[in-house]
Amino acid sequence: AAAAAMLIPVSACGSTRGGGDSAGPKDAKDVKVGISMPEQMLERWKIDGNNLKQQLEKYGYEVTLQYADGKTDLQTSQIQNMANNDMDYVVIASIDGTSTGAAAEQVKANGGTVIAYDRLIMNTDAVDYYTTFSLQEVGKLQGQYIEEKLGLKDGKTGPFNVELMAGSPTDNNASEYFKGAWDVLGKYYESGVLQAKSGKVPASAAEWQSIGIDNWDRQKAQSEMENRINSFYNDGTHLDAVLAQNDAEATGTYNAVDAAGWDYYPIITGQDAEKANVQAIVQGKQSMTVYKDTRELAKATAELIHDLVSGKKPDFSDSYNNGTKDVPSKLLTPVTVDKDNIKEVLVDSGYISAKDAGL
Ligand code: BGC
Repeated sequence: AAAAAMLIPVSACGSTRGGGDSAGPKDAKDVKVGISMPEQMLERWKIDGNNLKQQLEKYGYEVTLQYADGKTDLQTSQIQNMANNDMDYVVIASIDGTSTGAAAEQVKANGGTVIAYDRLIMNTDAVDYYTTFSLQEVGKLQGQYIEEKLGLKDGKTGPFNVELMAGSPTDNNASEYFKGAWDVLGKYYESGVLQAKSGKVPASAAEWQSIGIDNWDRQKAQSEMENRINSFYNDGTHLDAVLAQNDAEATGTYNAVDAAGWDYYPIITGQDAEKANVQAIVQGKQSMTVYKDTRELAKATAELIHDLVSGKKPDFSDSYNNGTKDVPSKLLTPVTVDKDNIKEVLVDSGYISAKDAGL
């Protein structure tokens, strides 16, 4: 692609990329799209990356997909390379939403359009669009699940022992997810209906980072829960529920419970409908997960790019503020999945096979 670019006459270069300008729409085959994904530990990012690539290639665009292995520096240099290669559109799921800002600015400076994917890019005006799921809704669904299963709405007063974990301190989503959960559960901690023997309860949703798990790491979540279990629950004190905000944290939690050798599992929440976690729900180790159909997210993002290439104004009526600007956003709807609706929601929709679900 670099060699081909050198043959393009100078008059065709410059700031005529990015769609919607006076030069008119480009030929699909001349549209270059870069996709920067955070890591491949979690199944979802592999599915996201592949779906997005496929959908964009269907429109005829030239697509480069890269994974950053959970390393912020690597992600920055991958995005910088995309900028230097004159990508027209760069789709970024940031590892650290604040540190990708500078690379996003470089994409813009080179005439490209920046789309934040799933996770917002913070504190810069170099982000044009954002596609994600209703973020607080995810945490709200997790909080409501605990609320319902403990009978809190029916007036049960416990006190119940509920341990809390939030997501990665560098991920803006984690802040929103915790806010959503806290909106439901916070009042019960204040009234004493809920308590955490570990004492790890933030004073407010704004303090969520104090219970964040770096990089959403499964092993770190497991160590954290092993510590809490060993220090506070291994004398027979019942642990009623754990707010785990994604499936990696849920796995860490049920592994910690397995290691403690208990004859029960607390209510454990999750997010992403990872295969192993769907199986864990079928087996009764995990209680629920928040399913976000990443096929739809990839589709919405590919359609956005297609609209922009065709000079059509995308219909992005929501917005998220990233500290610098309100970023026009497309918000999809997350769904609670537990053993009662796995088949209907995940299997019948073709997201996962009955065999992979462990059904
Ligand atoms: C995503 C989740 C994911 C987590 C860890 C979040 O930003 O929205 O789907 O589980 O990151 O990768």
